[in-house]
Parts: sequence; structure tokens; C-alpha cells
Amino acid sequence: MLKKISRMPVYIGMGSNIGNREENLRTACKRIIAIQGIQMMRCSRFYETVPIGGPLQPMFLNAVLGIKTVISPHKLLEQFQGIEILMGRTRTVKWGPRTIDIDILIYGDKIVDDDRLKIPHSLMHTRLFVLEPFVEIAPNVVHPGLQKTILHLYRELQTSLSVTA
Ligand code: ATP
Ligand code: CA
Ligand code: CA
Repeated sequence: MLKKISRMPVYIGMGSNIGNREENLRTACKRIIAIQGIQMMRCSRFYETVPIGGPLQPMFLNAVLGIKTVISPHKLLEQFQGIEILMGRTRTVKWGPRTIDIDILIYGDKIVDDDRLKIPHSLMHTRLFVLEPFVEIAPNVVHPGLQKTILHLYRELQTSLSVTA
């Protein structure tokens, strides 16, 4: 009997602040959903955001893409790094400007924690540029580490940012 491989809901954070940012996000999205074993669910709209950390650099466009996939977390990371390289991503400065950044935010209810990959993404709950597009497409998804919904994390972060502002 054939073993049924389950498709996992996966959420991906994308960002670009070099070149035609909108085109870059669209191209990355097209390349991701063209991978065999990936089905598109939803893509957020594109959000213009102020760079956090790193050197002085141009504003970002960020988006979150929801897919379903049978591909394993590490294989997905390899595929996404391949797309980043094809799209001219270079790494010179930490959190520096980039044509495209593709991060795995959440992979179903899986927790991965090794040298190459941390899922959920270790900083996602601290970043408005991730949570704002995420809440648009999937407010009820639960962060498997923190056991809170994306909407809850978004509201918490908004509150803490308005207290410290
Ligand atoms: P940040 O991770 O803080 O968003 P960044 O995206 O600029 O920073 P990169 O230079 O793109 O960082 O990636 C550095 C390394 O992070 C990658 O080589 C990869 O092995 C690792 N990594 C760990 N967890 C993840 C994840 N969930 N998604 C993508 N890369 C990850
Ligand atoms: Ca990133
Ligand atoms: Ca990255």
C-alpha cells in the first residue's frame, strides 16, 4: 500500500530592498510555487517597512507566503537558498541589503533547532515586518514554541512597541 505523505502548511517570510523590490518578491513567489511538491495557499500584500538592525540601507518590501508542501524543512531551506543565489543574493554584512531574503517562519507544528535551521524562525515574534503580513493571511495559526496565535503575537508586539515608543 502507498504511504500517504501529508502536506504541511508552511509560512515563508520574504524581504527585498535592492533593485525592483516588487518584481523581486513576485519572482521569488513564482519560483517557490513552481517547485514540485509545493502548492500555494495565500500571499499577503506587500508591506513597505523600515530596516531593523544592520547598516543604513533602503526601505524593505516584505510579504508572507503560505504554502502546503511535502518537502522536508531542510530540503526547503536548500531550495530557498538556491532561489536566493539565482536572484543575486550576496552576504557581506549581517542584516545587510538584499535582492531577496526567504525565511521559513513556521512549518506546521514542527520544531527544528539545529545549526542550519531554526523553526519557528527565532526572531519572528519580535518583528512587526513579519507579523503584520502574517496576520493578514493566517491570524489563527499557532506558534508551536510559544503556543500563541499569530494574532496574539502581533497584538503583544504592537503593545510592547507602543509602550517603549
Ligand atoms: P535573520 O535570520 O535574522 O532574519 P538573515 O535572514 O539576514 O537574518 P541569512 O544570512 O539570510 O540571515 O541566513 C543565515 C542563516 O540562517 C542561513 O544560512 C540558514 O542556515 C539559517 N537559518 C536558520 N533558521 C532559518 C530559517 N527558519 N529560515 C531561513 N534560514 C534559517
Ligand atoms: Ca531574514
Ligand atoms: Ca534569511
